[in-house]
Amino acid sequence: MIRDLVKSDDSILHRKIQPCGVNCDRHFISKTLIENMFHYEGVGLAANQIGMDTRAFAMIRDIEYNDIIVCFNPRIIKKYDECVDFEEGCLSYPDEFINVKRPDKIDVMYEDEEGREHKIKLEGFASRVFQHEYDHLEGIDFTQR
Ligand SMILES: [Zn+2]
Repeated sequence: MIRDLVKSDDSILHRKIQPCGVNCDRHFISKTLIENMFHYEGVGLAANQIGMDTRAFAMIRDIEYNDIIVCFNPRIIKKYDECVDFEEGCLSYPDEFINVKRPDKIDVMYEDEEGREHKIKLEGFASRVFQHEYDHLEGIDFTQR
C-alpha cells in the first residue's frame, strides 16, 4: 500500500520514535517500507516519513546487488573516527541537498522482521544511508546536521 509522505513540519518527524515491541506486525511494516521506498525512488525510508509510528526503516545496502535490509530497533554501537562529507537528499525535503559530515564507518545492531538480531559493520554508502534513516527515528533531520 502506497502511503503519503508526511510534511516536513509534521510532529512525527520531530520526536523520538519508541521501540517496536512484540505487537508490531513486522512483516506488514517491512513490506510497506520497501514498497514505498521504491515508489518514491529513495535509497532509504524511515517508517515515520510515511506516518507510521514504528521504530524501523528500509534501506538499500548495496545498489549494485539490489541488497535491501529492513532494520527494526536499529542502534549505532560504534562510530569510527574518520568522517567524510557527502551531499544528501531526503524524501521529506525534496528540494534540499545538503553536505553532511558523518563517520564513514559504523558498527550497528538491528533486528530483522523475524526478530533476529544482527550486528554488522557498514562503510561508505550503506553507512551514510543507515545514519540518515536512524536520525529520522531520533526525530532529527539532515537540516539539523
Ligand atoms: Zn531523510
